[in-house]
Amino acid sequence: MTESDFKTLIYEIPEPHIARIRLNRPDRANAQDTELLYELNAAFDRAAHDDEVRVIILAAEGKHFSAGHDLSETDSAGAMRRHQTVGTMCGFGCAGAEAQMAREEEIYTGFCERWRNIPKPTIAAVQGKCIAGGLMLAWPCDLIVASDDASFADPVVSFGVGGVEWFQHVQELGARKAKEMLFTGEAIGAEDALKLGMVNQVVPREQLSEATLALARKIAVKSRFALKMTKLAINGVADASGRDIAMKNAFHLHQLAHTHNLKVFGMLIDPTGLPEATRKAMAARLAALDAGGTAN
Ligand code: ZN
Repeated sequence: MTESDFKTLIYEIPEPHIARIRLNRPDRANAQDTELLYELNAAFDRAAHDDEVRVIILAAEGKHFSAGHDLSETDSAGAMRRHQTVGTMCGFGCAGAEAQMAREEEIYTGFCERWRNIPKPTIAAVQGKCIAGGLMLAWPCDLIVASDDASFADPVVSFGVGGVEWFQHVQELGARKAKEMLFTGEAIGAEDALKLGMVNQVVPREQLSEATLALARKIAVKSRFALKMTKLAINGVADASGRDIAMKNAFHLHQLAHTHNLKVFGMLIDPTGLPEATRKAMAARLAALDAGGTAN
């Protein structure tokens, strides 16, 4: 059964008790625009609210899992919705750092925390590149199955920001490897990710879908409530170590970086580290925003 009422993803029940969400912007390497993030949140909600669903798979169409946030999005201000998450009480009237922080609390850290805490097991199936914001889709999932061509990178230090908004790097990699990933911007391959405990399995690309389903099947026969309690207990270990406060600290530094870049470069990131095509797209976006008089 395939649900067709999403534009940027496919929601389906490939077999009983398993919901699968497939990101479906392969022509843009599944870059995340605002619409995709809201649709993904709605799809996770649908699976969470469906009593028949016991395991949720997040997969992606095309060569790459996700290239991260869609920096060429031209209507992000217009697409901003009323906030759904607690603590981001900022309406359409706010501007500057206040608006930027509220937006990112909503669609980045807010959604990622929400997805991390879905009371059902979630599995990400990752192929190809998983870059920056792409990590913020894979990491909130409980388990990750990677294909042998998968790689994971957060290159945003090159853009004048100290890591993506949902700062889970240390939890995933340990402090030393997290520093290496962020300082160098280099990608971690699937086999290295496996050794670091960042992914659960590495399988040949053509077996990714079936291997993920096989893992989901093993879990789907277990008690739903026992799975929920197990997830709460394990996530609670990280929370007891202060993950939440550390995450907020990193997020506030991230906002400081955006504000600094806006003052120095006139945009939220330092453009000197960007590929030329992205730089041009962002310049066009800025020009469009200037013409439209939009502050965000
Ligand atoms: Zn940001």
